[in-house]
This record gives sequence, C-alpha cells and structure tokens, in this order.
Amino acid sequence: MLPPETELWNGVEQTAREVFGSYGFGEIRPPIFEPTELFARSIGLDTDVVSKEMYSFEDRDETSVSLRPEATASVCRAYIEHNMHALPQPVKLYYMGPMFRRERPQKGRYRQFYQIGAEVLEALQQGQGGAKDIPKDAAIDAEVIEMVMTFFARLGLEGVELDINSIGHNAPNCRPAYVAKLKAELERVKDKLEPDSQRRIETNPLRVLDSKLESEQAIIATLPRIADCLCDDCAKQYAEVKRQLDLRGVAYRENWRLVRGLDYYMRTTFEITAKGLGSQNAVCGGGRYDGLVELLGGQPTKGIGFAIGEDRLILSLQEAGKGAVAQGRDVYIAWMGEKTLATAIAAAQESRAAGLRVELPPVEQKFGKALAQADKIGARFALILGEDEVASGLWTLKTLATGTQEKLEKADMMDFLKKAKSSPQS
Ligand code: ATP
Ligand code: MG
Repeated sequence: MLPPETELWNGVEQTAREVFGSYGFGEIRPPIFEPTELFARSIGLDTDVVSKEMYSFEDRDETSVSLRPEATASVCRAYIEHNMHALPQPVKLYYMGPMFRRERPQKGRYRQFYQIGAEVLEALQQGQGGAKDIPKDAAIDAEVIEMVMTFFARLGLEGVELDINSIGHNAPNCRPAYVAKLKAELERVKDKLEPDSQRRIETNPLRVLDSKLESEQAIIATLPRIADCLCDDCAKQYAEVKRQLDLRGVAYRENWRLVRGLDYYMRTTFEITAKGLGSQNAVCGGGRYDGLVELLGGQPTKGIGFAIGEDRLILSLQEAGKGAVAQGRDVYIAWMGEKTLATAIAAAQESRAAGLRVELPPVEQKFGKALAQADKIGARFALILGEDEVASGLWTLKTLATGTQEKLEKADMMDFLKKAKSSPQS
C-alpha cells in the first residue's frame, strides 16, 4: 500500500474512530499472534479458517503460535485476562489491523487483509439473564448494526445492503431441532445436490444454505426455514431487533439463509454487502456469541460484534470514484542564493507549523527549474525568495494554476498562506 492510496486508508480509519467513539467504543490493540490453541478453541477445529487457512508456527519452546485470522478471540481473551467484567458493563471495544488467512488470492481476497471490528461484551450479573434481558439485548444488537451502517453512510459507500437473520440458540427446543429437520429434508434431496453440499449434510448441514451453486438454488428454496422453528425467546428477540432497527431508521432485508457454523453463535446474525466487488461482495459480517467468553474460561458473558473487510471497503470506494487523489503541496519554496537559505528555512518551519504541506528544496535551484519542479509535484503556490526579496522584505508568491504573481510583506504572506490552506482548492 502506497501513497496516495494510504490517504484513503487513513481517512477510512479516522472515520471509524470518530463514529465508533461517538457510540462510546474505545480502541483495543490485540497482538498479531496468539497461541494456536486460542483460535482452535474459539473458531473451531473443523472450520476452514482453522483447519486450512491459519498460519501456524512452532515456537522455540515447541508451543504453537498462529498469526491471527480474526480478532474476536483475542478481544475475549483480553476481556478475561484484564478482568474487564469488573468494569462498568457492557464493555465496548473496537480494533483495526491486519489478519492472516491462507486462501487463494483474488480480487477482494488476500492472505494478509485488514479488518475493522467492534465487540460489545457484558458479564452476566447476579439475577440477570433469561427472557427479561431480551429487549435490552435486542437494543444492543440494533445499535451495533446502526453504528456500522452509520460508518458506511459517512464514508459514502454505495449500494450498501444489510441482511439479517436469527439462528436461534443451542438448546433442544430451538436450533438443534431445526438442524435435525433440515438434515432429514437434505437426506431426501441428497441426490440432487453437488458433492460439497452432500458432504455438509453430515458435517454441518446449516452450511448447505450458504451454497452459491446455481444448480442447487431451486432445491434450497424448498428447505425448512429457521424462522419457523425458533423457540419463543429467540422469536421474541428477533422481532424486537427488527422493531429496534425500524426505530433507528435502518433498512434491512431478512435472509433466512444467513448462517454461522459454530455452536456459541446465537440469535442475531447479519451481513452487509456493497457495490463494485463482484462475487467477493461481503464487506461486513457480524453476530451475537453469548457463549464464547465462557468457552475461553471466563464467566458467563454476552457478546455481539462484527468485522468489516477494510480492503473490500476501500475497493468499493475506489470503484465508485471515491479514491484518494495524489496529494500535492501547498507551497514550494523556490530559494535562490545562499544568503536566502536561512529565510527559506524559517518560512518553511512557520508554514509547516501552521499545517501547510511544504517542499523546501535541499539545494539551490535555478528559477526555471524550481518552478517546473513545483508544477510537477502539484504545488499550489511557489514562494519565490531571491536576495532582493530578502533584502526588501517583500516576498513574491506565484499561483501556479493561473501564473499570477504578487508581492507581499512577510507577515501578510504568512497570513495569506494560512488562509489559503483552509479554503477549497482552486
Ligand atoms: P468470505 O465468505 O468472503 O470468505 P468470511 O465469512 O470468511 O468471508 P469473516 O470471517 O466473517 O469472513 O470476516 C469478515 C469480513 O472480512 C468479510 O466480510 C470480508 O469482508 C473480510 N474478509 C474475510 N476474509 C478475507 C480475505 N481473505 N481477504 C480480504 N477480506 C476478507
Ligand atoms: Mg472466508
């Protein structure tokens, strides 16, 4: 990643900090690598991410460490390790940084990619939990979704679509009953499915719903839907999330095929797609994971979070013509004659302190060459400092776009430049 593209990355990250900050989130910076065990336990041994995509290494003491494929596990580990359950709840954290997965690289899919994500964690207090928490949890889910959508809107991301679903929870009267029903139905239509899906009937039937294969779509459309099998609490929670989204003016589409493969994921799941990305069009995935902190050795804790694919977000912005433009300079200081150097340095220091982008050539240049260089690097103004200017205290400023030139007293010149910085580019 190089300038000027990095300007766009910085702008996106700055906007994330502002928007997430306005919702009361603080930044966490988890490490880039962790014990392999942490990911194996949290993401699951039989997921693609852990079984095929993780970069794992034997350390010198023969423990295994892995480059992080995502950050939720690290955030939960940190929550436990730093006793964050003792802080006012819920704890709201966001992160940004590189993640690593050994995948087949293609547009929007890299082996080192960047995520911006956030998590809301809340340790269960005495007497908490159960059905009476439903309205509160739903409001938190909806606010988290509202926050991502606000972030995307602030960036001007185009063609943003939010899909939501509820995947119930892991109790006999809810998801497992649905999965059993789904599996039975899949067995019946097995012959019409492709080998990948046939295999998933055994390993993870929910994942069949993920299939993008054209030949399977008509069959999948006839399969039982989880919304019809949710337990009362999960159904209530899902209805309340939708009501909360409506209250917040967040438009969504219900997508009964949106699933997560792991047991501790529950209830709210969502995915956001954007324009200009081809088949890799998911820019954000998220959901509720109330069992995860406990699975990692903490006390019962609720959790909801999301991860945004920053690379894809940036690609979509660029496709829409919102990429960064090459950053020129405000001022090029064309100094001539050794005696003007001290004045040139002082002028550069003062303008830089005022926030201007200044180019001060390291050695003296001939007038024509200095102006050509100023032009080439896209400077708006050339400040011309010859021995006459220094002696008279009247400096010359050339506006490169128009070629106009004017003479100003030093103090007026600095005032003019400082004002020019904040006015729109001509
Ligand atoms: P996909 O279905 O595209 O493989 P995923 O389900 O593996 O995505 P998550 O683990 O939910 O993705 O990660 C959240 C987001 O991170 C994705 O929506 C996507 O934008 C981004 N992402 C995931 N893997 C990559 C990758 N290899 N390169 C670039 N971005 C990625
Ligand atoms: Mg993936």
